Amino acid sequence: MADFNTEIYAWYASNKRDLPWRETNDPYKIWLSEIILQQTRVVQGLEYYMRFVENFPTISDLAAASEDEILKLWQGLGYYSRARNLHTAAKYVDEELNGVFPSKYETIIRLKGVGEYTAAAIASLAFHLPHAVVDGNVFRVLARYFGISEPFDTANGKKMFRDLANELISANDPATHNQAMMEFGALQCVPVNPGCAICPLQISCYAYINKVVDRLPVKSKKVKIRNRYFNYFVIFTGDSVFLKKRSGNDIWKNLFEFPLTETQNEESVKKLVEEDAFSLLCNFNGTEVETITEWKIHLLSHQKIIYRFIVLRVEREKKITSDLIKVDKKDIFNFAVPRLLENFINNSKLF
Ligand code: SF4
Repeated sequence: MADFNTEIYAWYASNKRDLPWRETNDPYKIWLSEIILQQTRVVQGLEYYMRFVENFPTISDLAAASEDEILKLWQGLGYYSRARNLHTAAKYVDEELNGVFPSKYETIIRLKGVGEYTAAAIASLAFHLPHAVVDGNVFRVLARYFGISEPFDTANGKKMFRDLANELISANDPATHNQAMMEFGALQCVPVNPGCAICPLQISCYAYINKVVDRLPVKSKKVKIRNRYFNYFVIFTGDSVFLKKRSGNDIWKNLFEFPLTETQNEESVKKLVEEDAFSLLCNFNGTEVETITEWKIHLLSHQKIIYRFIVLRVEREKKITSDLIKVDKKDIFNFAVPRLLENFINNSKLF
């Protein structure tokens, strides 16, 4: 095991990327970077991290912001519950802990949106506590090097990997240890075509020696993908357009979107506009439809969103329901919207 750590540290010293959150001990910034980097590649996350630190240099600044401001800054990063949780946790630290970030694993993990992985990352990187991080990168490196075929997404498997990672962690410098493990998985021992030919661990790596690199790590569950059909109505009246804030326990909660009708399959526009929700909004006689875009696909981790935009121009809207807001079309850029709407707004030349 000593060799494993020595090789990983030496590899890290010569291969690590210079990233701003590696230059700080500030738990707020480390937390911010960890939340942003969940489900996000470093290149993309970096831009958002810089943006957040610039707009909210301290946790109190983040706590004082409105949720709409935060969601707007988060726009395009996906998994928006991360942004809402970030805000809730910032308010909690600001109001209940006098703005002082918690400094123990047990208190860090109580923050909204912080799980075992993030708590271990903050505890080790900001406070030098020996808690091993176990993320997808670490599962992969450990499974391959030590030849662990137990699926990593079962309770047993998780425990096995966590115990091994905690056994390996260096008490002297847990921060560098964790960074090195994650960076090695992110750059060297990558999921497809890892750099085995130039790997310093090659001579003692179980997977390499036994030619099972592409079979490790093992996952037990297959993700079930659900198809959803989203019909967005882009309804113009004069220079205004209608938006609605998403609510309920669903994707993109609290982001804005055009009025939407979700269907089980590709319904005709005629059928859709006969629905009550739509007829409440405008008198429709068919001539108002300006464009109907092709169906496109937006992939999320567990859902396939099949969507299109139906652009309408109405002379006179009917009674506006309270959950709809009418905005001047040039102001649409101030609203936080899901990525697929952002692309439409930017490319359609309608705004
Ligand atoms: S030899 Fe290949 S599989 Fe083994 S640790 Fe190195 S990169 Fe990963």
